[in-house]
Amino acid sequence: MLKVENVTKYYGDFKAVDNLSFEVQDGEIFGLLGVNGAGKTTTFRMIIGLLEKNEGIITLNGEKIDYTKTDQIGFLTEERSLLTKLTVKEQVIYYGILKGLDEKTILERLDYWLARFHISDYKEKKIKELSKGNQQKIQFITAIINEPKLLILDEPFSGLDPINVSQFMEVIKELKKKKTSIIFSSHRMEHVEMFCEKLVILVHGKSVLNGSLKEIKKSYQKKNIHVKAEAQKEQFEKLKGVVSVEQNAEEMIIKVDSEDYIPKVFEEVKKCQNVTEFRVEDPTLNEIFLDKVGVVYEN
Ligand code: ATP
Repeated sequence: MLKVENVTKYYGDFKAVDNLSFEVQDGEIFGLLGVNGAGKTTTFRMIIGLLEKNEGIITLNGEKIDYTKTDQIGFLTEERSLLTKLTVKEQVIYYGILKGLDEKTILERLDYWLARFHISDYKEKKIKELSKGNQQKIQFITAIINEPKLLILDEPFSGLDPINVSQFMEVIKELKKKKTSIIFSSHRMEHVEMFCEKLVILVHGKSVLNGSLKEIKKSYQKKNIHVKAEAQKEQFEKLKGVVSVEQNAEEMIIKVDSEDYIPKVFEEVKKCQNVTEFRVEDPTLNEIFLDKVGVVYEN
């Protein structure tokens, strides 16, 4: 288990991370979210000991993380950092040996992961000959070649097409089953929503939301009501508690401030003709994120 307790980091006078605490259990996928500059990479660097923290404690299974724990950690950095003149095999052997593995084990694991990512043919190719997405797969393989207890993924999906995103997700889920603690940052809320169980949202280095995705969504007051009927937007816009009404080709989406306002919307829907659907949903993580962070969040 990774435990981050009351961690603060200053760059000069600037507080980049402010009294941050969270835990990632074994076999848990944890999302660290925030806009550019929120403090995610700084947090990751403190976890692996690349940066000194000013205050707080970080432990992995109860022990402080220092260079003796390198073999238990995998880190996919945000800035991709492969040695492009090396072949895939040379690159992975290099990282594997740094993590204390012998060459035979590295090659066995490399063959497995190359096959898993459908890129076995690239083993003897130079990194620079590979597409960006495939280079990212190789970097990912270097991060997991030591079968880490703690896997840190800084923007693992950036620049990947949807097929590769889903391949990465499958592998991450497989690692979760093997009890790896996984912490990742992403700008794409739909990725976080798809497979992350717990999360922290950082704003200016401070946690503004921390907990399980399910609980966060359940406890969030605002709800979205999906209606399929012959209805006019204006009917609902005038109702108390209605924040917005959106009509698309398929349905009308009525956003209400809290579930207390749902019955009034229901009453109004009953007045409409051809009602085929009335469905109440929790807001998406993106909506919660925008609400908490208060800015339009772009990729
Ligand atoms: P992004 O999503 O853009 O990668 P981030 O959430 O990872 O952002 P950090 O890179 O951790 O954010 O940066 C947090 C804050 O600290 C930013 O305001 C950044 O400008 C500042 N910062 C980061 N590194 C340094 C440094 N070496 N010296 C001074 N300030 C820094």
